[in-house]
Amino acid sequence: MGTHCLSVCLGLGVATVALIGCRCDAADGLRPVPFPTVKVDDGFWVARHMVYRAQTIPHSWQYVQREIEDNEIAAGWLKAERGQDTPWNQANLHKVLETCAYAIAQQPDPELDAKLDYIISAIAGAQQPDGYVNALITVRDMTPWANLDGQHDGYVAGHLIEAAVAHHLATGEPSFIEVACRLADHIHDRFIPQGHEGVGGHAELELALVRLYRVTGEARYLELAREWIERRGRPWAYSSDTPRAYFMDHLPIREAPELTGHAVRTMFYLTGVAGVASEMGDDSLAEAARRLWRSTTERKMYVTGSVGSQPENEGFGPDYELPNDGYCESCAACGLAYFAHEMFLLDGRSGSIDVLERVLYNAALHGISLDGTTTYYRNPLTDAEHPRDNCWVCCPPCLSRTLLRVPDYIYARTDRQLYVNLYVGGAVTLSLGDRMLTVSQTTDYPWSGHVRIAVDPDSPVRFPLHLRVPGWARSATVAVNGKPLKCPTPIDGYVFLDRKWRAGDTVDLEFPMPVERLTAHPSVEADRGLVALQRGPLVYGFEALDNEGSLDITLPEDAAFQPEPRPDLLGGVTALAGTASDGRRLVAVPFYSLANRGLSSQIVWVRQAGLAVDNAGWEGRLYRPLPLAAARGE
Ligand SMILES: [Zn+2]
Repeated sequence: MGTHCLSVCLGLGVATVALIGCRCDAADGLRPVPFPTVKVDDGFWVARHMVYRAQTIPHSWQYVQREIEDNEIAAGWLKAERGQDTPWNQANLHKVLETCAYAIAQQPDPELDAKLDYIISAIAGAQQPDGYVNALITVRDMTPWANLDGQHDGYVAGHLIEAAVAHHLATGEPSFIEVACRLADHIHDRFIPQGHEGVGGHAELELALVRLYRVTGEARYLELAREWIERRGRPWAYSSDTPRAYFMDHLPIREAPELTGHAVRTMFYLTGVAGVASEMGDDSLAEAARRLWRSTTERKMYVTGSVGSQPENEGFGPDYELPNDGYCESCAACGLAYFAHEMFLLDGRSGSIDVLERVLYNAALHGISLDGTTTYYRNPLTDAEHPRDNCWVCCPPCLSRTLLRVPDYIYARTDRQLYVNLYVGGAVTLSLGDRMLTVSQTTDYPWSGHVRIAVDPDSPVRFPLHLRVPGWARSATVAVNGKPLKCPTPIDGYVFLDRKWRAGDTVDLEFPMPVERLTAHPSVEADRGLVALQRGPLVYGFEALDNEGSLDITLPEDAAFQPEPRPDLLGGVTALAGTASDGRRLVAVPFYSLANRGLSSQIVWVRQAGLAVDNAGWEGRLYRPLPLAAARGE
């Protein structure tokens, strides 16, 4: 069709243009466009991925050497005595292997490839005749599946499966995924036909089985994922002392009114729930996923995308209880990113991608230092001088696999439709219908809201292109081949262009990026009277060393921050410059870049003079911007 575009008013404004086209069946058959077909070529992610390849991955091996050796011992390649160890440590090796798979998909690395082959051979050698594989358990003569209730047997298995899926997609080789399938077959036999009791204490297997199902098409893996999900909340002989709510095992998922328990476990569990709901078309499971999604994102999520405020249980607190010195574990934020992606695949709504984007650009990026070698286990929104802890347990390889997986999240598709979810420079090549197609993006995102998309089919082809309008954007202009055309109102957060595409067609998107001052829902006591700065997808924070050593900051009512590109600062950022009520010059930098210049206190939420937050109009929202009119100069 020849209609398309113009400028639309979003967010606080009123959409003024007529609907063109229909997205009513848009979510049907939605699936990811796998990362190996997506090449990233931009100024933001490429720089980070280079650091992760050159620094983070080599740095990681020292922490999983023992786990590699356990596989060598179990395979009979090495003789050594083993004492007690943490039962879930093999999962860290699996997460490093998954990280490597995403890395080699972006840039071939024969040396790394060979190292992976060697380790995968050792893991295959450690696999038992019945398919069980966990070298740590084997070499210590521990009992398989004795660490299930409240524990990590399913978690370790799930991470092996995720690593194997990523390795197979990245290389096309069967070696690792065959191990994963034998393991999944073993688990299926044990827990379904043989009917062994138990529920994995740390969710992960469920979401991994959904990924394995998507690659293999083997229905038993999906059936097993559903079995493990539906076992929770049933009465059964339970051997852990921990309250069942800690595992969200206190109620059947379809009856659970809200999030409870350990934040990482719950996020991983709900990722599996949403994945099974979407793959099985299970409406009641989908309703549960939606209800708990709202519980997460409307009442329990930090503005940076972190979740899990309570240090006592590493978990969720009551609604709106979001202290700025909260727990905020890196793995929990990563888990929210996975949950968000599955919610998108379930419903096709861009609000899920808004959350995914919030996590990736803020909480997750913050977890790894700019040099790629140290990490934060916790990512609170206010921090005293506190070095990155580099606590090499679960979080470091979870962060690296999540951030190197960004290409997996950029696009999605159905048989005949393409979605652009994240604005990241680079290109994807895929078949759509019976045509081959390359779609490329050129952009300085997240520093600029201008994106040019080039569509290059091998011959003219009609298909709907869904372009996400980020939730932070108050307005958008969209033009096709340079022409300011009529524009459909975004539906479910997407501009929908259904036309015959020809080689050389371009779409120009412009999302203005003023500096926003966000306020939190009035029930968030910790943020009353305070604002946080956001520009585009980036939440900002203040660091003492940029602000005369003091974070005692009050903004004037008419506070106006100006973006200042600083290629010399923190690997190249756009800083925000403004003035405090007392006339002091203020500098804010992206939250992700805090704590990279030595010890210095940090803060995200700052006092706002004269702030009166209206109690009305918060339905479905946890954060919203002040009217721009109050912020002169933007
Ligand atoms: Zn962790």
